[in-house]
Amino acid sequence: MTELRVVLDPKANETMKKHMYRYAGSSLPEDQWREAMGVFIGYTKKKVIYVSRAIPLVHGTDVDFEFGPKELVTFDKIDRRAQERGLIIQGWYHSHPGIGIFLSPDDMKNHLVYTTFNPTAIALVFDHTEHREPVSPGFKIFITPEPGSISAYEEVPFEIASVKIKKKKIKGEPPDPFFFLEEFLTELDAITKTKPSIAVKDLADLLGLDVDSVNTLILEAIKDKSLPGTLEKDVLLFNKT
Ligand SMILES: [Zn+2]
Repeated sequence: MTELRVVLDPKANETMKKHMYRYAGSSLPEDQWREAMGVFIGYTKKKVIYVSRAIPLVHGTDVDFEFGPKELVTFDKIDRRAQERGLIIQGWYHSHPGIGIFLSPDDMKNHLVYTTFNPTAIALVFDHTEHREPVSPGFKIFITPEPGSISAYEEVPFEIASVKIKKKKIKGEPPDPFFFLEEFLTELDAITKTKPSIAVKDLADLLGLDVDSVNTLILEAIKDKSLPGTLEKDVLLFNKT
């Protein structure tokens, strides 16, 4: 039995659930359920694994979470930004819509990538069909007791509680709460699903960020070509097809 335990910030819990429920849940017909996956940001201190953020990354038809060159670039980008804040990629989450909570042999192979970066990396698996608040959170969190081995995993106890991170001001970075581009795009997609445009001020209010941070993220996303829109007169216009 592991001595480790996990503290999961409510914000991280909410972000990952929102992400996974968008692709599988009782509001969707079962044949449209899709898996979703993201990474955790946090740190480990005195046998406690703190997860402060969840960053949604992938979802879709056949999410097979193999680490290709593209995933590794994204992974590296997130890890670098996390490290600037004294944090690290603390593992990953993914959904098993209607198939139960466990780690498959492929999941174990993927988990090896995380434990290579961080020996206390966790793997959270969520199945919405087992989610019944307050009786069942619908997920379990696993670790591999021997990092580097893919032969065994075990459950690690957790609680949901606020995770404090040291406030470190970084020049040119959005102030806290900082947003990762990937996380921003997921939130933006949810907010603007049926809107052809939105004022940056309204967007900032919805995200709980200041206008400057939102502008920085929008420009970063447009430059990155990951945002199908343009910024004109403080209004974000979408050219979704
Ligand atoms: Zn899986």
